[in-house]
Amino acid sequence: MRLLTKLASAFVAGETPDEAMKVVKRLNEKNITGTLDVLGENVTNKEEADRAVQAYLDLLDTINQTRVRSYVSLKLTQMGLDIDDEYCYQNMVKIVEKAKKYNNFVRIDMEGSDYTQKTLDIFYRLHKEFNDSVGIVIQAYLFRSEKDIEDLNKIKARVRLCKGAYKEPPTIAYKKMKDIRKNFIKLAEMLFSNGNYPAIATHDDYLIDWTKNFVKEMGISNDKFEFQMLYGIRTKTQEKLAKEGYNIRIYIPFGTHWLPYFYRRLRERKENVWFVVKNLFKK
Ligand SMILES: Cc1cc2nc3c(=O)[nH]c(=O)nc-3n(C[C@H](O)[C@H](O)[C@H](O)COP(=O)(O)OP(=O)(O)OC[C@H]3O[C@@H](n4cnc5c(N)ncnc54)[C@H](O)[C@@H]3O)c2cc1C
Repeated sequence: MRLLTKLASAFVAGETPDEAMKVVKRLNEKNITGTLDVLGENVTNKEEADRAVQAYLDLLDTINQTRVRSYVSLKLTQMGLDIDDEYCYQNMVKIVEKAKKYNNFVRIDMEGSDYTQKTLDIFYRLHKEFNDSVGIVIQAYLFRSEKDIEDLNKIKARVRLCKGAYKEPPTIAYKKMKDIRKNFIKLAEMLFSNGNYPAIATHDDYLIDWTKNFVKEMGISNDKFEFQMLYGIRTKTQEKLAKEGYNIRIYIPFGTHWLPYFYRRLRERKENVWFVVKNLFKK
């Protein structure tokens, strides 16, 4: 298990808030902002969800005190969505209320398709109350996402667009990279023309180059959107984008519940699995 923990550290910024804050500070020095994620999901009891709420409240205090440039990202199943929708909503109110007080921001990650509608329902309620202090994520692999973006643009919601990281059936999701990229571009165009400060979350050069060309052609200035990437993935590209003058934010997960997150990162790229296997058998 110790070795696995070491391997996970390629994608996870440590187990404690202190370790994660050091990473944010280092990134800030390179003109890169952060979004901190206390790892955890599919919580099944209120004690654990309450602890997660407290961890985020403390984290928002720390961000405010240390003046690092970072907001937070979280998952609703960490806040009790599997326990009770209303309980989860009330937990989110506590967190978003505090973020608003500090002029900060909470991004609600998007999980597997069983949770898409519930997540959007809670997001819409929170947005009504807290407006731009809360944002959402849309996954380009889902067929439904075009309609979701149409609706989210109507209220000028802040959307992070990503491909999607969960295993979804072909009845509801594009499976081929070519189709996912095509839909990503379609949705990104919608966000650029009618959205509110879209976050283009990808490590894919094809989509990064498309974005750079599109904003140039349309005369969209760099302060109207940001790129986002994950901690530990394509670090050089992250720094290059910052140097080129683009806004770039890194998703920085930390904590002890790293296994599902780590598993999703492995699934995205077969080379990662080989890396793990090789290291497991290394003497
Ligand atoms: C900031 C951010 C937030 C996200 N939030 C969510 C969310 O809320 N919900 C959700 O479902 N998904 C989320 N994702 C994950 C996303 O949906 C994709 O699964 C993930 O980003 C991989 O797709 P890609 O577009 O980066 O391109 P890919 O085509 O998968 O990768 C392009 C290139 O990036 C590098 N790369 C990509 N992934 C890895 C990896 N795991 N390890 C090493 N190198 C890699 C490789 O060089 C690869 O060739 C998020 C991603 C980012 C960047």
